[in-house]
Amino acid sequence: MWGSRSRESKSVTCIACGTSLRREHAREYDKYGDRWDRDGKEFEYLCKACDRELCHQPRDELEGLLVEVAAGEHSQDEFLSWYSALVEERYGSLEEQ
Ligand SMILES: [Zn+2]
Repeated sequence: MWGSRSRESKSVTCIACGTSLRREHAREYDKYGDRWDRDGKEFEYLCKACDRELCHQPRDELEGLLVEVAAGEHSQDEFLSWYSALVEERYGSLEEQ
């Protein structure tokens, strides 16, 4: 949300495993599948371990995890559209920085 972006060492919680970590160590996770459109968005975060796991999991498991994460928040259509974008983005950039 607005107001939280200017604080340097804010703690965030990994949405996959619940670990707290500093935001600069977390990967931004955009449930809408478009990280470049930031207006009015509230980002979620993954720790690097979970981010890496998500990259290498077969689609079925990834989808299962994300369904769990997003359960009750999104319609199926909405979920599938951002999920597809996410997979495309993730699988297109498997190299760790
Ligand atoms: Zn995690």
